[in-house]
Amino acid sequence: MTTHLSPAPVGTRRLLAATDPSLPAHLAGYGPRPPEPELGGLIAAVEAAGLRGRGGAGFPVGRKLAAVAEGSRAIVVANGAEGEPDSSKDAVLLTRAPHLVLDGLSAAAAAVGARECHLYAPAPVLEPIRRALDERRATGYDTRNIEITAAADSFLAGEKTAVINRLAGHAPIPADQLISTSRAGLRRRPTLIQNVETLAHLALIARYGPGWFRSAGTPDEPGTMLLTLSGTTVTGVVEAEFGCGLQDVIEQSGRIDRRDVRAVLLGGYHGTWIPRAALHRATLSAQALRPLHAHLGAGVVRVLPRSECGLRATADITAYLAAQSAGRCGPCRNGLPELAARMHDLAYGAGGDPREITRLAGLVDGRGACHHPDGTARLVRSAIDAFGGDLTLHLRGACQAEQEHIGRRRPLR
Ligand code: SF4
Repeated sequence: MTTHLSPAPVGTRRLLAATDPSLPAHLAGYGPRPPEPELGGLIAAVEAAGLRGRGGAGFPVGRKLAAVAEGSRAIVVANGAEGEPDSSKDAVLLTRAPHLVLDGLSAAAAAVGARECHLYAPAPVLEPIRRALDERRATGYDTRNIEITAAADSFLAGEKTAVINRLAGHAPIPADQLISTSRAGLRRRPTLIQNVETLAHLALIARYGPGWFRSAGTPDEPGTMLLTLSGTTVTGVVEAEFGCGLQDVIEQSGRIDRRDVRAVLLGGYHGTWIPRAALHRATLSAQALRPLHAHLGAGVVRVLPRSECGLRATADITAYLAAQSAGRCGPCRNGLPELAARMHDLAYGAGGDPREITRLAGLVDGRGACHHPDGTARLVRSAIDAFGGDLTLHLRGACQAEQEHIGRRRPLR
């Protein structure tokens, strides 16, 4: 087992170790991949490694592999559709390390006995993937046939039933899921849909084993994850170990002083606002984040500077989310536009009642065919909690961010 990739808490380079996206650079960085016949124990190795999905849900990958492997004529899909406007970690990974993702896709296909493989990603990142596939075929490194499909440009494009719909030639919108895709996914066949970062980690477990994987992170949450940082001077994709402090990640990666931060939106547009006062309690850990009602999602970290208003940011995101649903289910058709309108009123000085907003969030929560309404409700509720002090000011027609920004009280309209 190779151990030359030494981990560091923030700025670790497990996934982005290659100097360029070419196959020679990939092999120089990671060494040869194990031959397919040696991948028989991969499911057990992934289970021992404790790898969880990096697409947002955090489901144990070994369990998913085992479920798909039980069926016959399995299909594997590498999902690189981020959808989330603040996320770019999958695009960066596919552009800088396409061979790592393709190694993971091939290894997963071998582990579950799949002959049909798909890679689903936004159109702008398909070119590096095509180049990588050509290189693999031309050199005989990997002759597996992988079908490439351009992902839809929408927030819900990466939702797994939307992915299946797209691959089946239908509109890329979520569907009711009565049976797990592991048993009946694309064309009713057992389908493994894995985020591309998850597959890259899987490729490294296949090379170096579960012990190496566990040498980063914590015993309960091993490994690293890619984070997309945005807001103020904090931008870009960074890799960090589970267990790192969120404040450390922001300060080390973004060179921003914590006093200049108003709050952090963790987990993306379906995520949770963490106010500055609580940031020291936030670590990259699902367990540690639970008391803050927060989750890591797909690793989106938006830093809100003191000069920006959290209620306005939330109102703008809620309006975007309301517009992104397919409007098939009641909560999306009726509830989200209403929620967005009330948030807008509150944030932009047209009145608004936080209790009514909380009531509307409760009405849409858990009532859709997919988790879109739930995620939107979570975002709105967390804004009401995190920016409680600002609510009072907004109801009086003022805004703290504007006051701090220009140094005097100014009306919202
Ligand atoms: S809950 Fe909303 S986004 Fe999800 S399937 Fe229904 S209409 Fe579409």
